[in-house]
Amino acid sequence: MTQEASLIADRLASIRMDLPKDVTLVAVSKTKPVELLADALSAGQLDLGENRTQEMAEKAVHFARPDIRWHHIGHLQTNKVKQIVPHAHLIHAVDSRRLLDEIDKRSRTANRVSSVLLQLHIAQESEKHGLDDSGLMALLESLETHPLSHTKVEGLMGMATFTDDSTQVAKEFKRLRQQFDALNPGRWTTCSMGMSGDWKIAIDEGSTLVRIGSAIFGQR
Ligand SMILES: *Cc1c(COP(=O)(O)O)cnc(C)c1O
Repeated sequence: MTQEASLIADRLASIRMDLPKDVTLVAVSKTKPVELLADALSAGQLDLGENRTQEMAEKAVHFARPDIRWHHIGHLQTNKVKQIVPHAHLIHAVDSRRLLDEIDKRSRTANRVSSVLLQLHIAQESEKHGLDDSGLMALLESLETHPLSHTKVEGLMGMATFTDDSTQVAKEFKRLRQQFDALNPGRWTTCSMGMSGDWKIAIDEGSTLVRIGSAIFGQR
């Protein structure tokens, strides 16, 4: 085992130790070379997160392993949906009906059902993507009146403000979890929140899936 491989295995083990059993750990491997992803896979980490369509598609083809669960965690452009639909286990950051329709269309063509999360804007920074409360409501209503055939909404995803103020971060995660509980039609499974710097707060606030990159693979 290389030194880097044992470092990754150690970090994964220590995070898993602090993670409640029913919380999914997604190791965010974006920008990292396939050698490091292989190290994580060897350590039993099969949920991997990428935020660029092309990079995710290339890595999925490289490994060609049906047991890997690829998570598309970043902002997604409509014209890139086609690239990832065949590979994605879960698409995290969906924030428009247009995007949902494209995912549905491409999923039908690929003869599969895609699982997605709707992104709620919870941070103070205005540049972060995501729906506001009324946009989320409207989107859910549109799904009632015009359901999708090949796309399944599994829950919500959010990113907290990038700040050392843990009270602020906790408040934002709490809001996401509250919306998850309030709007949950009883079928949602996943409340995706928490990254390297704030995942412990996210767990305390009811996250069911954390997306951790640099704390596993090192700084990007
Ligand atoms: C990069 C990224 C992460 C992981 O960030 P780290 O701080 O490295 O853990 C999580 N979620 C999203 C949406 C990201 O783009």
